[in-house]
Amino acid sequence: AAKRLGRARHSFFRSEFNSQLQATLRLEKELQYALLHDEFVLHYQPLVAAVGGTVLGCEALIRWMHPVRGMVPPLQFIPAAEQSGLISELGNWTVRAACAQIARWKAAGLNFGTVAVNVSALEFRHHRLVDTLTQAMADFGVQPDELEIELTESVLMTDTETTQRIVERLHALGLRLVVDDFGTGYSSLAYLKHLRPSKIKIDRSFVRDLPADEDDRVLVRAIVQLARALGIAVVAEGVETEPQREFLCGIGCTALQGFLLARPQPAAEFELIVRGGLLVDATRS
Ligand code: C2E
Ligand code: MG
Ligand code: MG
Ligand code: MG
Repeated sequence: AAKRLGRARHSFFRSEFNSQLQATLRLEKELQYALLHDEFVLHYQPLVAAVGGTVLGCEALIRWMHPVRGMVPPLQFIPAAEQSGLISELGNWTVRAACAQIARWKAAGLNFGTVAVNVSALEFRHHRLVDTLTQAMADFGVQPDELEIELTESVLMTDTETTQRIVERLHALGLRLVVDDFGTGYSSLAYLKHLRPSKIKIDRSFVRDLPADEDDRVLVRAIVQLARALGIAVVAEGVETEPQREFLCGIGCTALQGFLLARPQPAAEFELIVRGGLLVDATRS
């Protein structure tokens, strides 16, 4: 009986494993199909001056417009794209789509800071990233100061030699680097010195419980002071409430991103925001 039970359990796990594997394979196939059939789209979320509400730039965030499942958020397919090796193709799509959009906005006379593109860990390690960026910028006539590259802290902290080499190549292209999700990686700050990011983005998890949480108040204030002392711009992510905005303003955080200001949205709607000018008044009315 024990033997039979063992076998049953074994096959249970195996079928569990198989169905997971099948789901992963199906997702990979679907991603490949989606790349061929243009099912991805970038939405844009503004970064806004904490005082005055001017749009300072935006972040491009990928969405998958799935014909059956509707809009699929990136965290539901980026990991699969990384596992399957499709990430460099997806990254290529993202970079080219962002550059094409920058070119369209420039042609339309729309001026507002930079467009930031997210690059995932495996994409960053991949040799093609620098070539992809170089090619896309040349094809769409994008200048390096019109584009920013967002990397998470964990990317910057691992395999520091390779990282340093790639970072140097990105700097040589004139591109500026942004540390995303700041505070969630390892706690060594040495990389800030070596990698010289132009901007850090305080992770949403530190902003969420502001201003009530005392630890978060202390941490966020310290991050803002550190960034300012190093001459690095600082953005607070995930700003959802007026009291959060007031606290961040008060401690000298100069730029904000979050649903309080605006959600990520299609290019056409983002354009309306930029043309409309200030965002803070809009959220107050
Ligand atoms: P992230 O780069 O940290 O992007 C910020 C995320 O926070 C976005 O989620 C955005 O929609 C969300 N967000 C912005 N303001 C608020 C707010 O006030 N409250 C809350 N609750 N959320 C807010 P999204 O678009 O689902 O993206 C999730 C993550 O997926 C991104 O985190 C980024 O790491 C990754 N990602 C997005 N687009 C791309 C891409 O094109 N390529 C790669 N490799 N990764 C991407
Ligand atoms: Mg980001
Ligand atoms: Mg972030
Ligand atoms: Mg984040």
